Amino acid sequence: MTDKITLAISKGRILKETIPLLERMGMAPVEDLGKTRKLLIDTENPDVRVVVIRATDVPTYVQYGAADLGIAGKDILMELEGDGLYEVLDLGICKCRLMLAGKQAGTQSGGRLRVATKYVKSAQQYFAQQGKQVEIIKLYGSMELGPLTGLTDLIVDLVDTGNTLRANGLQPIDHIADISSRLVANKASLKVRFDTLQAVISQFRNAIAEI
Ligand code: AMP
Repeated sequence: MTDKITLAISKGRILKETIPLLERMGMAPVEDLGKTRKLLIDTENPDVRVVVIRATDVPTYVQYGAADLGIAGKDILMELEGDGLYEVLDLGICKCRLMLAGKQAGTQSGGRLRVATKYVKSAQQYFAQQGKQVEIIKLYGSMELGPLTGLTDLIVDLVDTGNTLRANGLQPIDHIADISSRLVANKASLKVRFDTLQAVISQFRNAIAEI
């Protein structure tokens, strides 16, 4: 067992936008994450190590206490089942929107619509609030293909610039939620390692204030 705090970071966009924050905090990984094959990496802060994992695995590591802190998208956190973590800070990075989109706004037929999404829970909540009954089809990627191939009428997906929708002839229909990356903490760690965790959380707070 190590006494270091473990920070789990989502691979991809979130990692890319987190590295400058970590550098500002004196907590940059000591190895080049693009090159190393190591999975647990020390940082310039002797109290903190990082693990870089799939976005959907970050909350699991934090919920079970395998990581004390994690950085994950709100889109992933909204899909979460179970307990064990607190959302402690909106880091304001990797901002985008969870949107409903389809081939043509406002022209859906009266029948029960099919919706492709990775975000089943958020989509279910959205359509329940709208009082609409739809069939939700879970996909793990390339949601835009749903309407293009006739698999579904609509998609619920993340939209940043809107380029992907436009390139595939799809139009935004409704804005479901604003998304950004959040710092999350294991509930038990927050109690047991209060001082060390609070110090790291304050460092994140100061780093984002400087952006
Ligand atoms: P865009 O073409 O800029 O609207 O980006 C849309 C594509 O990028 C979709 O495939 C999204 O799933 C993905 N995407 C956009 N923003 C994010 C984000 N913050 N995190 C993860 N995926 C994203």
